[in-house]
Amino acid sequence: MVMDVALKKALIEDCAKVITAHADELTSLDQAIGDGDHGVNMKRGFESLLADADALAARPLPDMLKAIGTQLVMKVGGASGPLYGTLFLSLAKEIGEAPNTENARAAFASAIEAVKARGKSEVGQKTMLDVLAPVLAAWDNRAGLAAHLSETARQAADATIPMKAIRGRASFLGDRSIGHMDPGARSSSLLIATIAKHFGA
Ligand code: ADP
Ligand code: MG
Repeated sequence: MVMDVALKKALIEDCAKVITAHADELTSLDQAIGDGDHGVNMKRGFESLLADADALAARPLPDMLKAIGTQLVMKVGGASGPLYGTLFLSLAKEIGEAPNTENARAAFASAIEAVKARGKSEVGQKTMLDVLAPVLAAWDNRAGLAAHLSETARQAADATIPMKAIRGRASFLGDRSIGHMDPGARSSSLLIATIAKHFGA
């Protein structure tokens, strides 16, 4: 599908809006099992995308994703900045200017592999990957795909609650990381639900 400037701008604006609206929640999740900066980190990064939304949206999709990835690496910081940055930079490499669902899915699959390599992490370690990977696995050819992916992301974030963290700051807590949702899993589910809304969810 062709992603026109208005759609690209709306995606950036809505992602920034949802992260800002949930910044306090992301912060409290990170206070429970990390250092309490995930909300602030993500808000800073997405506010900088919002400030640049017109210029970003005017670029072809791969260029826009590359610029977003670069900006997230620079502005978000922490562990999640380089990881979200890697996700978008890798998407930028694989996605076409007018992707169909197969191209988008393949690009997302490569991007998840890039995050794993960057984070030296795998599924099941209580991180953002525990939302990203189930969403990829649920991506099929069904009618109503966007709503399905959005719901999958929500459930996958919930499913990080009983997990024990093996990567990231939360892993320092060992068993005490059990019983809390992973902040990066929550921010990933918020972003996926927001993006899915523009594709029919
Ligand atoms: P920091 O942990 O440096 O304070 P943030 O609080 O912004 O950074 O981000 C924490 C989130 O980053 C975690 O909730 C987790 O989802 C994700 N994360 C941390 N380390 C890794 C990793 N090695 N692989 C994948 N995701 C990770
Ligand atoms: Mg943190």
